Amino acid sequence: MNDQILIDVKNLSKAFDDVSVLENVDLQIRKGEVVAIIGPSGCGKSTFIRTLNQLEKVTGGNILLDGEDITSKSADINQIRRRVGMVFQHFNLFPHLTILQNLTLAPVKLKIMSQKEAQDKASQLLKRVGLYDKKDSYPDSLSGGQKQRIAIARALVMNPEVMLFDEPTSALDPEMVGEVLSLMKELADEGMTMVVVTHEMRFAREVADRVLFFDEKGIKEQGTPEEIFETPKSDRLKEFLSRVL
Ligand code: ADP
Ligand code: MG
Repeated sequence: MNDQILIDVKNLSKAFDDVSVLENVDLQIRKGEVVAIIGPSGCGKSTFIRTLNQLEKVTGGNILLDGEDITSKSADINQIRRRVGMVFQHFNLFPHLTILQNLTLAPVKLKIMSQKEAQDKASQLLKRVGLYDKKDSYPDSLSGGQKQRIAIARALVMNPEVMLFDEPTSALDPEMVGEVLSLMKELADEGMTMVVVTHEMRFAREVADRVLFFDEKGIKEQGTPEEIFETPKSDRLKEFLSRVL
């Protein structure tokens, strides 16, 4: 981790119709930092992380990505999605495409790579996540853990500057959680900037540089894993931890 601010969230607000979900959220994420987001369900964690690649538009405030305002009307959405990779709870693989095609589709369609370049890059990543032998299979034939490793590889094809994970292990059978978390830990160790919404408190504790506790409308408490888990300050966080630990 260095001192360069990669993501700068300023006074962000988000409402759906007139229901306010996030209010006045400020957050700076440094390059190489691993930020875990914890908090009760329905408090806006997904909404927040989705604003970071503009899957959700903000209602107020700004988000700067390496100094560039991705919330401005003139921002190039394809470029944002390329720079900010995302992994979802339910994998979101394309069921009618092979694994290799799942990885090569976006870079070829967006004309970032030739078919050959995309296939080389995809093959390299599939080897890396240990699933090269599945390249011609379809997602349905894979286990949940394998699907999620493919989803991570697919996001990495674009060489993103930051990776967002929204509860990446919540839909997995318990025996498959480990293989996904260990791949995420490898990415973190290699210096990837990561924002991870998670119920895996052990992962948050062991891998995150910083933990954010979200509660109604935004960040209620934040700190190092030690601070959040050993010496929580607010009653809301204490109560939350007593339920999940
Ligand atoms: P979390 O991820 O912390 O469980 P969410 O960000 O999914 O919470 O949801 C926060 C609140 O915003 C919830 O009350 C949810 O119902 C609401 N919400 C989320 N997405 C939408 C949407 N597209 N339209 C309307 N309300 C939404
Ligand atoms: Mg959510």
